[in-house]
Amino acid sequence: MKILVLGSGGREHALVWNMSMRGQHELFIAPGNPGTAALGTNVNLGVNDFEGIGAFCKEKGIEMVVAGPEEPLVKGIWDFFKADSVLKDLLFIGPSQRGAQLEGSKAFAKAFMERHHIPTAAYKEFTAANFEEGKEYIGAHTLPVVLKADGLAAGKGVVICQTNEEAVAEFEAMIQESKFGEASRKVVVEEFLSGIEMSVFLVTDGKEYVLLPQAKDYKRIGEKDSGLNTGGMGAVSPVLFADAAFMQKVTDRIIRPTVNGLHKEGIAYTGFVFIGLIKVGDDPFVIEYNCRMGDPETEVVMPRLKTDLATICKAAAENKLSEITVEEDPRTAVTIMAVSGGYPGDYEKGYKITGLDQRMGDSILFHAGTKEQEGQVITNGGRVLCVTSFGDTVKAAVDQSKALLKNIHFDDMYYRRDIGYEFFNEVRP
Ligand code: ATP
Repeated sequence: MKILVLGSGGREHALVWNMSMRGQHELFIAPGNPGTAALGTNVNLGVNDFEGIGAFCKEKGIEMVVAGPEEPLVKGIWDFFKADSVLKDLLFIGPSQRGAQLEGSKAFAKAFMERHHIPTAAYKEFTAANFEEGKEYIGAHTLPVVLKADGLAAGKGVVICQTNEEAVAEFEAMIQESKFGEASRKVVVEEFLSGIEMSVFLVTDGKEYVLLPQAKDYKRIGEKDSGLNTGGMGAVSPVLFADAAFMQKVTDRIIRPTVNGLHKEGIAYTGFVFIGLIKVGDDPFVIEYNCRMGDPETEVVMPRLKTDLATICKAAAENKLSEITVEEDPRTAVTIMAVSGGYPGDYEKGYKITGLDQRMGDSILFHAGTKEQEGQVITNGGRVLCVTSFGDTVKAAVDQSKALLKNIHFDDMYYRRDIGYEFFNEVRP
């Protein structure tokens, strides 16, 4: 199949890596990175250039498009394709603009969960219209209290407040000072849930679904989950506490009602659903929905997915998911992200990266923020690259990735040595 993948991060490198394994597909990546260039053809088009992407698909006879990041989906790329007499017949992996609201509007997602009785934190939403009521509500809320900008805010729109004064000030900043621009015109105020988080991933056609390997990511910059939030410093798969009994609850209470809810409401949704969960006691609650795969979770999910992702996606687009059996590598996979010094604050770009040609065994190096300049790969972002390794235990996989990262170098490179630390002493049953 001729496939176009949209995006340029480690996630897209991992998606393309899976689809390239069997040599069955011709792969194009827009805009891609030096990692994807080794597996397919990078195309110099931005992910929000709908016209350019559409014209490229027609010119090359692309048969399937897989959207990596959320932005073009929330902006309506699916609807753009469906409105075109030629592009409408392509297989498109990614939801309609309405479906993408599950990620693009936290208020939409909360109301959806309420309608379908899906367990999540109790909440209320406020805008400038009921600002005074909001201040009163937040001023008297139990602590901690969680404030969320309704729209996309590059992962920064969630603030957990420890005092009512701080929460009211944050609320004022979001609504009155437009702290997150348009995204915080509406604010979701929610109860704080205490527990351990993990992510599940589905491919759905809006009626049926298949489950991909689950994962847990590590968002904080510092070891033992300290310091600032980042896009993600590493991930593990599978998640040891997510045993069969817990996953049955996730299926019955969350996954099935979510997919049934999409179907009942007539929301066109062919693509990935990423459900961020929190385990409170023994029960799962939804923290968030995303309408695409996670990054860096994809860098452990795709290596453990032994089925061809393109075959799964094609089946979803043709409403044949019931014919798919998802095979998983039984081993544990861990990825460790190497970032630029200073990230998630200010950092430099343009440093030479060395050690990329070392022998990796069955570990995999995924490019994220890299670019090629005069035959040399250089840093080009905060999260630069990650190394995924397998093991019988989390610790063995971490040690393998660390051993390989030791031989990779760029100025001010930093990575966490403790990804998966809660599981270092646990052995899978
Ligand atoms: P992302 O960057 O993953 O897209 P986001 O900005 O969409 O994040 P959420 O995932 O909703 O925001 O929240 C970010 C983080 O805040 C969660 O991973 C979780 O750790 C914490 N969080 C959010 N809601 C709650 C809650 N109700 N109780 C406790 N922690 C929460």
